[in-house]
Amino acid sequence: MAVQTEKWPVDPFGAVMKDGYIWGRGTIDDKDKLVTMLMTLVLMKRSGAVLDRDLIFLAESGEEADPTGVGINFMVNQHFDEIDAEFALTEGGTAKLENGRVTVVQVGTTEKVPRRARLVATGTSGHGSVPRIDNPVVHLGAALGKIGTWETPMHLNETTRTYFERLATISPPDKAARYRALLDPQGAKQVQRYLAENEPAVYSTLRTSIVPTMLKAGVGPNVIPSEAEATLDIRALPGEDIDEFYGEMKRVIADPAIKIVPIPSTRPEAPASRLDTEMYRAIEQVSKRMYAGSVVLPAMSTGASDMAQLRAKGIQSYGLGPAVTEEDRAQYGAHSDVERLLESSLYRFVEFTWNIVSEIVIKK
Ligand SMILES: [Zn+2]
Repeated sequence: MAVQTEKWPVDPFGAVMKDGYIWGRGTIDDKDKLVTMLMTLVLMKRSGAVLDRDLIFLAESGEEADPTGVGINFMVNQHFDEIDAEFALTEGGTAKLENGRVTVVQVGTTEKVPRRARLVATGTSGHGSVPRIDNPVVHLGAALGKIGTWETPMHLNETTRTYFERLATISPPDKAARYRALLDPQGAKQVQRYLAENEPAVYSTLRTSIVPTMLKAGVGPNVIPSEAEATLDIRALPGEDIDEFYGEMKRVIADPAIKIVPIPSTRPEAPASRLDTEMYRAIEQVSKRMYAGSVVLPAMSTGASDMAQLRAKGIQSYGLGPAVTEEDRAQYGAHSDVERLLESSLYRFVEFTWNIVSEIVIKK
């Protein structure tokens, strides 16, 4: 993940320990999971425990940019028998730290599917001193305006319905009322605007989302280009018929000068991991044991992970993560300019993961 060194208070690759924090690119995405899973394997070996199944540690690269390279696709397509397993634990979860206590343990059981596309506007090129009504930059701008304000349809699935039902039981009254409203179609309509403005992550969890991220147009300040394009980071709800969705997007844009060009996806569609497995139960039990009074929520990640490839192969995969405060999640989280993780949260996360894995692999 890119680093703008000038934005860091410390060396972004120095693993600097300061003010009770570990600072560095990747502390929360995803070196914390790498270290935690490795430590769990090493501790299991050192403990001499008798296992009743294999414990496989896989460290691979490419998750951020190109899982089709030497990453998860390589392992799944060419070495699956070496990693085939009943369960997988990896990134994609989190825990909420409030006043030193863990109040929520969020377990990633499913995720939205990246379905990126380019919007390409075409028109007649020419001299910049002669305005044209088919100017592709203007058409693209108008299309993005419509896309940017389009409220795509809201849908709940088994995971997100359970998530909001439980979240409502532990949230302050105003928030709880909004989460409960999502569970009924009429009430849900009322809260969409508020969520889009104030809780964008929740808003994204409810729908297939479209986020324009990159623009490409123009060769010179005095030249009308014949083409202009934008990249859309579309994240589809599991089960979304993406061709139908592109069709709806075309209807919203309503401009024949705009073409929607899908970008080949690097993530397969995959079923959600089940909530009735030995592993999910172990995560719930350990959470209750280690974090008294906490609530365990199955969650759909708006981002993607290598679990997509594992789930598509039938491996029940669960996303875990260390405990972070609301401030750290918002300011110092994954892909933020600066990343940091409480030292104490890393140690507790190792203990948490060790306890879960022990429940599953150590012979009873
Ligand atoms: Zn990431």
